[in-house]
Amino acid sequence: MAEEKTKVEELKEKLFYKTKNVFEVASEDEIKKAYDYCEEYKDFINRGKTERDFVKSAVVMLEKEGFKPYEFGTKVSAGEKYYYNNRGKSLAAFVIGSECICRGVHISAAHIDSPRVDLKQHPLYEADGMGFFKTHYYGGIKKYQWTTIPLALHGVITKADGETIDICIGEDPTDPVFYIDDLLPHLAGDQMRKSLSDGISGEQLNLLAGSRPYAEKTGEGIKLNILSILNEKYGITEADFMSAELCAVPASPARDVGLDRSLIGAYGHDDKVCAYPSLTALVEAKNPVHTTMAILADKEEIGSEGNSGMQCAVYFDIIADLAKSFGVDYAVVRKNSKCLSADVNAAFDPNFPEVNERRNACFVNKGVVLTKFTGSRGKSGSNDASAEFVGYVRNLFDSNGVIWQTSELGKVDCGGGGTVAKFIAKENVETVDLGVPVISMHAPIEVVAKTDVYETHKAILAFFKD
Ligand code: MN
Ligand code: MN
Repeated sequence: MAEEKTKVEELKEKLFYKTKNVFEVASEDEIKKAYDYCEEYKDFINRGKTERDFVKSAVVMLEKEGFKPYEFGTKVSAGEKYYYNNRGKSLAAFVIGSECICRGVHISAAHIDSPRVDLKQHPLYEADGMGFFKTHYYGGIKKYQWTTIPLALHGVITKADGETIDICIGEDPTDPVFYIDDLLPHLAGDQMRKSLSDGISGEQLNLLAGSRPYAEKTGEGIKLNILSILNEKYGITEADFMSAELCAVPASPARDVGLDRSLIGAYGHDDKVCAYPSLTALVEAKNPVHTTMAILADKEEIGSEGNSGMQCAVYFDIIADLAKSFGVDYAVVRKNSKCLSADVNAAFDPNFPEVNERRNACFVNKGVVLTKFTGSRGKSGSNDASAEFVGYVRNLFDSNGVIWQTSELGKVDCGGGGTVAKFIAKENVETVDLGVPVISMHAPIEVVAKTDVYETHKAILAFFKD
């Protein structure tokens, strides 16, 4: 009987699929590597909260690693490393492979914009003894989550004379911060009866920016004082807000979460937690066989639009230019190219189990997530990767010791979402989504597991080295 049981167990082991938890299968050494890797990740995202900040930090890192600015028409050769800074808001970094580029480019595409609260073009006003900035939120947010937390202002202002200046207020611990107020519970009876989506309206997301009037009694003295402070520091006037991009983001730095320090709470994991591994993998792959490219796109959170989003021609213009440099047919390069669309997925949260179908959900610490399809309802808006390409990625990960899992984004009828995958796939490139499971996605502070971040680095590295 006992023997029989062993046989059954053996058969189960042979035929059943079981997901792995990194802590159960990885060595102490490997887990330490993950924790160490995440120290650098936290440091990097503290300096890269907006797409503009992230591009700047990425350029510093890439130049240190010998990457050079790319100009269209450059005659390139194997082993050379370049980056293309697209308007300071998106980036393509690449290493020329030792094999002919006609064998295709290995692309990792992540996005570096995150949901936030942008200033309007006429933001500044005062009302009843307080000064505010009007805002227009960017990306999919739960508005109530952005109230009563310290916010920093990041961005640029282009002045009347054409000069563009950088703004960053609220990141230095000695800086003042900004704040969106909310109603006290004592008087919130009506508000509390509203739905979460209506409790705070878009026009209530006003940033508290001051309360002290300029000199003695004067009309709009608080507004005047705020403008006078800004004028003294940056030389700007009210009209300059019209040609500005100012973003309010959570002022706090990335912090370890949990007594075991296994998790990281930070603003903008979506999708810097895939953008950063794309960069580190590109650097670590050294002399790749295929030409490798990390695309860090902007505007994913509002549909990948505009000339810094993934739908912009620039990324494939670069690939076309590389093909031309080698005298190779561009269509052949695209046909043979492969892409990991590196974006986060929603981790199963035991506090909200009702939105996921457990068998097809991803979990923290179970490794990088491979997402065959995204979309909503009947896979609408999804790049549904082919079985053949998923098969290739599966073998690649298994043969390189990458711990991975699969997932879809929530229950079938529950909602959905999309990524940049479909915009790359339509260029005739094999594409599949993969990334880090995130808890509280799109909240001011999101949470990820350190082991999953490191497995994502390992996954992209295996792909770049292949
Ligand atoms: Mn994303
Ligand atoms: Mn997102």
